[in-house]
Amino acid sequence: MHDVIVIGAGPGGSTAARFLAMSGLDVCLIDKDEFPRDKPCGGGFSRSIIDDFSYLKPRTTEFLKGIARVGVLHSPNRRIVLEGKVDMALALRLDFDYVLFQEAISAGASPLTNTRAKRVSVHDTKVSVELTNGETVQGKIIIGADGVTSMVAREVGLNKRWPSSSVTACRVCEVPTSTKDILDRYSSDLKYHFFTNFGNQPGYGWIFPKHETINIGLGIVGTHARGLPRTFDAFVKYLKRRNLLPENADLSGSKGALVPTAGPIKQTVVDRCLLVGDSAGQVSPLTGGGIGHAMKAGRYAAQVAAHAIESGSLDATSLEEYQSLWQFDFGGGLQKQLVAQKVFTSPFTNLLFHIGSKDDRIQEIVSESLAESSGGDIDVIQLTYRTLVVCLREAFKL
Ligand SMILES: Cc1cc2nc3c(=O)[nH]c(=O)nc-3n(C[C@H](O)[C@H](O)[C@H](O)COP(=O)(O)OP(=O)(O)OC[C@H]3O[C@@H](n4cnc5c(N)ncnc54)[C@H](O)[C@@H]3O)c2cc1C
Repeated sequence: MHDVIVIGAGPGGSTAARFLAMSGLDVCLIDKDEFPRDKPCGGGFSRSIIDDFSYLKPRTTEFLKGIARVGVLHSPNRRIVLEGKVDMALALRLDFDYVLFQEAISAGASPLTNTRAKRVSVHDTKVSVELTNGETVQGKIIIGADGVTSMVAREVGLNKRWPSSSVTACRVCEVPTSTKDILDRYSSDLKYHFFTNFGNQPGYGWIFPKHETINIGLGIVGTHARGLPRTFDAFVKYLKRRNLLPENADLSGSKGALVPTAGPIKQTVVDRCLLVGDSAGQVSPLTGGGIGHAMKAGRYAAQVAAHAIESGSLDATSLEEYQSLWQFDFGGGLQKQLVAQKVFTSPFTNLLFHIGSKDDRIQEIVSESLAESSGGDIDVIQLTYRTLVVCLREAFKL
């Protein structure tokens, strides 16, 4: 019997598996895919993640495809553009997730890939996981890191499925081009763009320029997502017209994917089980950024699971500490981002951009929260205060 079974080897699962194996535990890391594998994503995250997970530093040449330094935010009517200087690290998920996976394996985790976990049963003394290859693996505890459609969350009763209003449906493409083309189009600052509510649909579009690819994508909140392919086509046409995408851009690699954007689920532990990353909804509702949260949650889950195994208490109450750790670290930030998401998808968004265009501090606050999409917090109180200041200043012509 393994000490821990981790299901899903994305950023959340591989990080958890690495820290667990580092503490000397017997860890089985399961994924339905063979690695390296791609994951439809923008691949942008806060630069601070590389400092925080310092084992990534010596390996940056294997995954880092640029640091974008200036964020450009477009209003829904596309008449107002706000800019802010905030660094964002850019990677291809094919490379980044492979590095995280390799780190877990070299720390001692045993991989079990190319097989899907299909059933989880929690017993008094163990957890059993049935796999599609016919095997059943057993462990003392399980970590569910199997993404937005989490089977583990469903099986243990923590989340049956996300309602369509709680997910954002995305279309994304990594468009190949030359480095020269990227520098000509987005400057040496690798200006990255966010488009609020493109086509008047609640959601966001983005452009993340990397060394040799332009990552473009569009996300629309699930209940409105039926027109996504059409709106994505309109988005591409608009970008070409604005010279933000080459006329002959190869979009054959476009893919669809979901991201949970209604904030985390309330309860992320039950007896002998913890959920991390997208399976727990630990994603910024404002930007759909979740790589950094998944990694931080994976590290907290590993810490709590290791402690629980050592003490022999593996019930939900003993695992509650995990809940407190991630809540304290970034749970409050996600709640604020949820408020910001409501504001940014409201009918007043153009007006807010207008106000923001008159105040540098507002632009800074908004850019920070977008570029820090994985570690970010939005200072809602400052934002409200500055909005009031601008309104008063304009009213009294100060
Ligand atoms: C289009 C799009 C763009 C995004 N852009 C960004 C961005 O720019 N920055 C950012 O920070 N976040 C972004 N996100 C969010 C980010 O991708 C996720 O938050 C992040 O991948 C979460 O990591 P995770 O480990 O929880 O899950 P995942 O990365 O989804 O990994 C889950 C793993 O579980 C495996 N799996 C699933 N089911 C099973 C099963 N039954 N058995 C075995 N294995 C299984 C999968 O193969 C996968 O490897 C984006 C999401 C989307 C959809």
